[in-house]
Amino acid sequence: MSRRRVPANPGGLFPFVCCDCRRSFKRPLNGVAPRPCPLCGRPAPWVHRKFKAPKATDVAQWEKVRFLIQHGFLFHSFGDGRGHNVRYPETLKEARTWVKQWADKAIRFEA
Ligand SMILES: [Zn+2]
Repeated sequence: MSRRRVPANPGGLFPFVCCDCRRSFKRPLNGVAPRPCPLCGRPAPWVHRKFKAPKATDVAQWEKVRFLIQHGFLFHSFGDGRGHNVRYPETLKEARTWVKQWADKAIRFEA
């Protein structure tokens, strides 16, 4: 099966993620509103393009993704105030303290 590169379009496609189905799909942004998951129909929030979806079998990573999104971290990049980008946490355990540390960088959105 050949994969064709889709040319970047000006509106742009963003990944939307469903942490219940553990998959992501690309759609144009809809303001900040979630879009229904094509599999389960539940609202799937959008995340920034830098997001890399974990494997569907990697439940622990998806729980971390869910946790980060719930706390307003949509895989946008932000600085640490000293000229470096803040690295996203590797594990859910790390994420629990991380979201408190960077709480003022969270994006407010209606889930
Ligand atoms: Zn779903």
